[in-house]
Amino acid sequence: MAPAIRSPYIGRFAPSPTGPLHFGSLVCALASYLDAKRHGGKWLLRIEDIDPPREQPGAADSIKRTLEAHGLFWDGEVRYQSQRSEAYWDCLNQLKKLDLLYPCNCTRARLAPLNGRYDGHCRHHPPSAGEACALRLKVTDLPPEFGHIRNTIEFVDRIQGIQKEDIAQVSGDFVIHRKDGFFAYQLAVVVDDIDQGITDIVRGDDLLDTTARQIFLYQILGKHPPTYAHIPVVKDEHGNKLSKQNHAPAVNDSTAEKNLLAALDTLGYRLRPLGSPAQLLHKLIADLQSNSALVSQD
Ligand code: GLU
Ligand code: ZN
Repeated sequence: MAPAIRSPYIGRFAPSPTGPLHFGSLVCALASYLDAKRHGGKWLLRIEDIDPPREQPGAADSIKRTLEAHGLFWDGEVRYQSQRSEAYWDCLNQLKKLDLLYPCNCTRARLAPLNGRYDGHCRHHPPSAGEACALRLKVTDLPPEFGHIRNTIEFVDRIQGIQKEDIAQVSGDFVIHRKDGFFAYQLAVVVDDIDQGITDIVRGDDLLDTTARQIFLYQILGKHPPTYAHIPVVKDEHGNKLSKQNHAPAVNDSTAEKNLLAALDTLGYRLRPLGSPAQLLHKLIADLQSNSALVSQD
């Protein structure tokens, strides 16, 4: 069956500008773009530049140029998270007023043996005033007005199927504002996905384990979470995720159609060259919308 044109469908690609786009992130961009376009939706670009220590000067522009070279044109203006502090502060203050946050001054050394699951130490032993602290969001023993919110989060991922996670067991109370003064990804991503009206998230499955915490935040904020589709991330020959840390090379913009064909192949679409990325994407979207000769992914 052809996918229904859904209104509204608003998707997004939300890269962190830690380096130029590599093949793995091109596959993610393409997957979210195609899903948006086949549903007749919008596809937004958001640069998640809220972690200056990890960023590389010029990376955001290079990512934009690479998307354009591959025919992946976004709708509307690019959003930069570095310009959104006010919205993040508003959300943080709202959570603070609701008595859902507490400061934590635990060191990396104290956290390391906890394997990512915070034990609530600073909730019971508050740091003294004036110390540099992170802010954690409570996930258990919430104030009475949040009594209906469960910490076992269940959702159906369109690719990975039914997911169930007890965040009290997996992450515990989690950081939404970092000790070094930066906002945590978890807070910024949810505030912007809500603000931009994102209905559908398609991204790499390396982020699958962040999703339950994000859905928990949606619930706390009284909002409906989007649907999720986590695509398998591209691995190198050693089975490692392609990433800047693993020295994945930048996509070469001068071989855009070839790169697109390879990225499409990774997503299970075998196509022949047509002369340009634009022609290729145009044909593919038309085929996906009518579902002729191509296997739909959902
Ligand atoms: N900025 C995040 C990253 O590049 C992705 C955010 C998201 O898609 O939710 O890993
Ligand atoms: Zn602590």
